[in-house]
Amino acid sequence: RNQLCKTHAWKEDLLPTSVIITFHNEARSTLLRTITSVLLRSPPNLIQEIILVDDYSDKPDDGLELAQIQKVKILRNERREGLMRSRVKGADAATAPILTFLDSHCECNQHWLEPMLERVMEDRTRVVCPIIDVINMDNFQYVGASADLRGGFDWNLVFKWDYMTANQRNARRSDPIAPIRTPMIAGGLFMIDKSWFDELGKYDMMMDVWGGENLEISFRVWQCQGSLEIIPCSRVGHVFRKQHPYTFPGGSGNVFTRNTRRAAEVWMDEYKEYYYAAVPSARNVPFGNIQSRLELRKKLSCKPFAWYLEHVYPELRIPDKKDVAFGALQQGTLCMDTLGHFADGTVGVYECHGSGGNQEWALTKDKSIRHSDLCLTVVNQNPGELLKLHGCQEKNTKQKWEKLDNNRLQFMGSSLCIDSKVHKEKGLTLETCDSGSLTQVWKFTLNNLKHH
Ligand code: UDP
Ligand code: MN
Repeated sequence: RNQLCKTHAWKEDLLPTSVIITFHNEARSTLLRTITSVLLRSPPNLIQEIILVDDYSDKPDDGLELAQIQKVKILRNERREGLMRSRVKGADAATAPILTFLDSHCECNQHWLEPMLERVMEDRTRVVCPIIDVINMDNFQYVGASADLRGGFDWNLVFKWDYMTANQRNARRSDPIAPIRTPMIAGGLFMIDKSWFDELGKYDMMMDVWGGENLEISFRVWQCQGSLEIIPCSRVGHVFRKQHPYTFPGGSGNVFTRNTRRAAEVWMDEYKEYYYAAVPSARNVPFGNIQSRLELRKKLSCKPFAWYLEHVYPELRIPDKKDVAFGALQQGTLCMDTLGHFADGTVGVYECHGSGGNQEWALTKDKSIRHSDLCLTVVNQNPGELLKLHGCQEKNTKQKWEKLDNNRLQFMGSSLCIDSKVHKEKGLTLETCDSGSLTQVWKFTLNNLKHH
């Protein structure tokens, strides 16, 4: 932690919390590590109880054995419910006024609890998280994470960490332990006032297994008069893993998309169209009935998504305002793809996966072809020359493109078009425009954007 955290005097009269940990087939040792760290690294009077919710794990004994530890209670589902309904079950059973949700593979660090409790007690509509440090998934070592990150997302609605802008980092330098407002929470680790959690509609009980719930609760908190903060003096380690160690009844892609659609349909108003443009395949996944969530939104008089974008996440680029086309750039079954390259990298094509990310492009009104803040750039204006990704500059004539009626993308003022014919060896190149060449055909998934 920052040194200043030590000198800060935390409030004396903090209220106790119920810690809620749901798990499905978690290793008993990692659960034990989580529980032990809660008990050893918190003032005892502030931990009312630790509620374990066993989401129908194969081995019921793990939970029963852990429940012999002081303050630990166990609830077990009769069938697999998923993390959302499991957390609500734990929350409903909690007896403390403040809820703390943790994943089942964490390590709470020293004085993790007090800084968060203080913030929530000052204002019950604040939902707060610690800085999430990394527990190495290979050797379980505790590794400090950057304190300059916030939670965010692209139009594919997949959570990502955003580096703070220069302005935000400067503000932090003058007060390094001030809470950080975050547009999105990672989802696994956070604290919320119990009465506010209830009032705000807990979780969407029709979401299954995993995913999308952090998006939903983040939109809901911000749009319904609350706020989300990361508290720098509170640090908790979490095992970030490559794969889920459990099955997804219904298929992981479908479940995630269904949950995400439920969040988008309830909270995003007309901006959901950018999600569907970035992830066209999502339209084919049924999302069920959302009536009660729409009613909740109305009952709580929540603000429109446009307000959230303007006041909470102005960094998210809204395609509409500056673009003529947006989404994936398709060529048959292939899509233009950054291949994970950054500035000065080449671009290529890859099988269309329909989930945005490296395949998310915009054709802007100022005639650039843009991925995030990188633009397709001509380094040498000759046939056969590779295209590169460079930082976008509005006045850079090397970044100007014309979309022709026959779906060619022509470098402005030239007779050269973007071509994939040598992509396998090198990447996309400039070639003489040829209306008969299929390797020059590019179609955006969303054309002619309307304006709000
Ligand atoms: N979880 C659960 N039921 C499920 C899926 C997940 O109780 O059907 C629990 C899981 O054991 C973990 C938490 O929900 O404690 C979050 O899941 P996970 O850690 O896999 O998500 P990640 O941190 O990788 O996003
Ligand atoms: Mn986790």
